[in-house]
Amino acid sequence: MMEQYHALKREAGECLLFYRMGDFFELFFDDAKIAAGVLDIALTSRGESGGEAVPMCGVPVHSADGYLARLIRAGHRVAIAEQVETPDEARARAKAEGKPSSKVLVARQIIRFVTAGTLTEDTLLEPRRANRLAALCELRGRVGIAACDISTGRMELEECEADGVAAALSRLGAREIVAPEDWPDAPYEAIARPPGDFASERGRKRLEELHGVATLDAFGTFSRAMLAAAGGLLAYLDHAGRGSMPFLLPPTVNETGTVMAIDEASRTSLEITATQNGERAGSLLGTVDRCVTSAGARLLAEDLSAPLARRIAIEARLALVRLFHEDPILRGDTREALRAIPDIARALARLVADRGSPRDLGQVRDGLAQARRLNDALTRLPDRPPLLDELLPQLTGHGALVDELSRALVPSPPTERGSGGYIAAGYDAALDALRETSGNARRAIAAMEARYRSETGISALKIKHNGVLGYFIEVPARHGDALMGPDSGFTHRQTMANAVRFNSVHLHEEASRIAEAGGHALAAEEAHFEALVETVVTARERIAQTADALARIDVAAGLAERAAEGGWCAPQIDDAPCLEIVAGRHPVVEAALAKAGERFVPNDCGLAETDRLWLIGGPNMGGKSTFLRANALIVLLAQAGSYVPATSARIGLVDRLFSRVGASDNLARGRSTFMVEMVETAAILARASERSFVILDEIGRGTSTYDGLALAWAVAEAIHENNRCRCLFATHYHELARLAESCDALSLHHVRAREWQGDLVLLHEVAEGPADRSYGLAVAKLAGVPPEVVDRASAVLAKLEKGREETGGLAAGLGDLPLFSAAVQAEQQECDSLRDTLSALDVDALSPREALDMLYQLKREA
Ligand code: ADP
Repeated sequence: MMEQYHALKREAGECLLFYRMGDFFELFFDDAKIAAGVLDIALTSRGESGGEAVPMCGVPVHSADGYLARLIRAGHRVAIAEQVETPDEARARAKAEGKPSSKVLVARQIIRFVTAGTLTEDTLLEPRRANRLAALCELRGRVGIAACDISTGRMELEECEADGVAAALSRLGAREIVAPEDWPDAPYEAIARPPGDFASERGRKRLEELHGVATLDAFGTFSRAMLAAAGGLLAYLDHAGRGSMPFLLPPTVNETGTVMAIDEASRTSLEITATQNGERAGSLLGTVDRCVTSAGARLLAEDLSAPLARRIAIEARLALVRLFHEDPILRGDTREALRAIPDIARALARLVADRGSPRDLGQVRDGLAQARRLNDALTRLPDRPPLLDELLPQLTGHGALVDELSRALVPSPPTERGSGGYIAAGYDAALDALRETSGNARRAIAAMEARYRSETGISALKIKHNGVLGYFIEVPARHGDALMGPDSGFTHRQTMANAVRFNSVHLHEEASRIAEAGGHALAAEEAHFEALVETVVTARERIAQTADALARIDVAAGLAERAAEGGWCAPQIDDAPCLEIVAGRHPVVEAALAKAGERFVPNDCGLAETDRLWLIGGPNMGGKSTFLRANALIVLLAQAGSYVPATSARIGLVDRLFSRVGASDNLARGRSTFMVEMVETAAILARASERSFVILDEIGRGTSTYDGLALAWAVAEAIHENNRCRCLFATHYHELARLAESCDALSLHHVRAREWQGDLVLLHEVAEGPADRSYGLAVAKLAGVPPEVVDRASAVLAKLEKGREETGGLAAGLGDLPLFSAAVQAEQQECDSLRDTLSALDVDALSPREALDMLYQLKREA
């Protein structure tokens, strides 16, 4: 057995091996130690290997799913080794091979790898979250990314620069990543796969074969890097499923520029789909989501992860939300109808992958039937927005399939198909007859029980059934002897402590009729199941479209519900680089405050081409970062096609959104807080365009005062002069206010605070003008720093401030520095003059001495 085990384990590689033994999956050696730790189950041992006990643990097969889920969540992958023959077959095989039958071992094979990215089981998947697997491949400096969610069949391809991979992967939220093993520093703990899998031509061929087409042209234009990644993805799926391919729809291309770019750091800092602790509750998604279907919730997560960058597309979504926002009755009815719709996409994927159940068929039936009813209701509406007109035809067209499934299936089919009972009466006359036969036999057995009771006079006689004996007659032990005689008509089968069991010729006959009819009936149901699955599989693309259309309607109705709940407004999308928000609010902070019975103070924001950089000062805890984030989230919501928490909002399209808020420690990656801050700032300075929106909080806080102020100053200037993007810049350096003198599109703002009877009152209001003072000591007092320490700090502060007055302060003389762009220009001019001198030189005409002199002169100028 250990030989067989080790062979399978070699094949499983880094995966934990679930080795089937009877009713258990057993794990051995290190696998057992890992699993016992993660699953908190007993670690035992079995036999010996090299003189040492072999560690072992096991999980029951019938509850394996729950344990698998926990192992996967803990980051493991699992290979499932099943018994692929019965003990009888094994014995027969041994005999044929001339081996003693006592030594035979049932053959086992790895039938599947269970990994985070290749799940389809309902029990293992999170309903409201997509489950993506991504493959990466680098080709001449470009990285192809292929991603799929086999629980819904969606497959997406895209291509980006090497430094855009992180952003793409975090947008896609990939749960598992594969890459060629010869990629020296493949990002993100990718699983290494054979490089041959990532050949672009093979990728193309595999896609063509998979979808039965001669060319991929109809699906879009795919680059070689994309095809190479697709090849790697398909090869991995093939490997994980051991040759059985999951459900995949034709690939779509994610084109760059159609969605707003948000890098990984900004995404994390804005807590879009998860908080920094990784939780959904408390994230933007958690606060906005009012979807009533899981598919809707998944689509909303995608929308918020990838807001659109094209006005027409955004307005189309907004128009659909408006329809539901303006008509509460329509909204209520639609949501009620959607609530009854099961997760068709995932049921379909299981059916296509041959892991489906009668229940999945029932879900497809119910979902499609409900989609048709929804279509009927929505088609009656006058003035439908264009997006709805696009979606409605996708809701119908399944009439024949729904009819077939309705006739064929019972109202709520079971998840198990082993014991039948899911095909409805009246669908198949032969099946009905078989059921009638076994029904008659059952009735005959019931009658037999009554007859035996009166014939034997034993009123406690019963006819029972169990898995081992089948049908049998049971009497209490004290009556046993009465039925034992050879002429009694009963044959003895089993004596228990307090009962004796018998068989009879008649009972045997009826029982055989039941068994036979039952066997035939099961086979008939199985055949119908397969035919029905086939019908569904044939219509898979249309069904997937219907599921998508339903999800889109759910998202719109859910957003309308959220808007109505929170008093949100429809944003106006503009092509000019503006940002005019009246009474904007931070949806997550507002919800948290509301729970505590407190009110959120709304604030306005007004950025325009001539006033694109707001410098915001004021005390700590005054509401600066909340204001920054609120505006970023409003932009994000608007471009995702949602209403926004404000009284009115005009949003100039944003191509890239950057958020550098709060000193989030990233020590796990071995970088200091300050280093992280600078890396992120560098990315912003390198990438932000005139169409971008940047929020920057407390740049330079992580270093000494002089360094920090100097960096904050230079960064603000560079953003103003070079990037020229819209930017909210929160800072506690008063000295930065002097930038307003030289930067004409920069204006000063502050969060208001007041001291009242010696206490600090934070008003959370953003007002124009510079902050008057920092209130640092007042905040310290508010936070409970002991009064004597605060008093001592006041004395130190007075001394420092005196020094500042005398010397002109930290920023003394900074106003005289040429502006960032002027400084760059000056440097440029120097370069130019050097170049002029050099190009005017006639090198051949120089004597060695002259050449040396010239070199000295150039060196002096440089
Ligand atoms: P800062 O960045 O200025 O230090 P924060 O934005 O972190 O301040 O805000 C501190 C706290 O003040 C928040 O956690 C929130 O509870 C509260 N707050 C912020 N803005 C508002 C607002 N507009 N209305 C009500 N409370 C607010």
